[in-house]
Amino acid sequence: MKKKIAIGILGATGVVGQNYLRLLADHPWFDIVDLAASSRSAGKTYEEAVGERWLMDSSMSDDYKNLVVRDVTDYAAIPADVKIFFSATELGDKQATRDFEFAYADQGYPIVSNSSANRWTPDVPMVIPEINGDHLEILHSQQRNRNFPDSGFVAVKPNCSVQSYLVAIHALNQAGYPVEEILVNTLQALSGAGYKGLTELERRTTVNPLIPGEEEKTENEPSKILGLLEDDKIIPDYSMDVSALCTRVPVIDGHTALVYLNFANEVPSLDEIVKIWSEFTALPQELKLPSAPQPPIEFKVDPDRPQVGLDVDNGKGMAVSIGRLAEDKFFDIRFVALSHNTVRGAAGGAILTAELLVEKGYIKG
Ligand code: NAP
Repeated sequence: MKKKIAIGILGATGVVGQNYLRLLADHPWFDIVDLAASSRSAGKTYEEAVGERWLMDSSMSDDYKNLVVRDVTDYAAIPADVKIFFSATELGDKQATRDFEFAYADQGYPIVSNSSANRWTPDVPMVIPEINGDHLEILHSQQRNRNFPDSGFVAVKPNCSVQSYLVAIHALNQAGYPVEEILVNTLQALSGAGYKGLTELERRTTVNPLIPGEEEKTENEPSKILGLLEDDKIIPDYSMDVSALCTRVPVIDGHTALVYLNFANEVPSLDEIVKIWSEFTALPQELKLPSAPQPPIEFKVDPDRPQVGLDVDNGKGMAVSIGRLAEDKFFDIRFVALSHNTVRGAAGGAILTAELLVEKGYIKG
């Protein structure tokens, strides 16, 4: 059997970090050897550092309980065998986070990040592997621009709200029905706000109509993800306009998106749309990457689906579930889409990106 690739998790004690531990417990390629968090956790065993904050349904694996947590900025203590870092942390402000992620790359580490800090850095790819795996090619120019060793780079994944609907839009674009306008209202889970989101009890009895910064991310990130890679640059695609209203609802995991859209040209029939989504497949599925959902889009015919309670774990939390497709009075069509925010929208999405990086030879085991 091939030796697994040693990986480290930055921000391992938080909600996304804990999901990495859960999802990677039996991963066929990756093996966790390093857990890092803030100076508050550094020096403690992982079990001590997390304490009462373990939020997963499954119990903490014995393999990690006694690993001593490293301070994320203690570069000297990085175990020698680590080949990839997943980052689920922010350091103070955005610039500090950008610098910290590039500091890892500068030392020769590939880092796949959940933070928003580097999403608009021009030479950093923001990847949903089913849509824009080709953007990873920009990593070569990132390494040249920044004099990184050829093993070091930063790749990021987009905001969790975007994953609920963008794969479905991409499938329609690919099928020859370009989408021109989208109105999206999101109903986002408490776990999207991290540890505090899940533990501050007053959040469980209300709908909060404000998630600071979320609407801007939901509206703007699609243009980079759908952009064209040309001459070492990602040229954003502004042909589709998005208007977003994002809310936080008392649901533990799972972001629901209520989507209304207009096509640029011909409007496909509802049957044709269902066929496009049901048959959609992409690079991760073709490469049979371990975390690739088969199929990536699950269309639900029952009129009361998708529902968080029934569908959030479809495709082991990596599939997008869609239903309630209908013609609309003001738009061409409308539908409801659901994805698991801490899996597809965070840890699982980053793991899938890392699998693609390994498969394409950017990361050597
Ligand atoms: P969280 O539960 O609050 O966890 C934050 C993690 O970062 C903890 O491990 C914490 O370590 C560490 N940390 C905090 N301040 C730090 C500092 N100054 N220096 C070093 N480490 C520090 O947050 P989360 O939900 O896991 O989110 C983590 C990242 O993923 C954020 O960038 C978030 O925007 C992004 N993200 C989250 C989701 C989601 O659904 N939750 C989805 C997509 C992206 P200590 O325990 O030691 O304090």
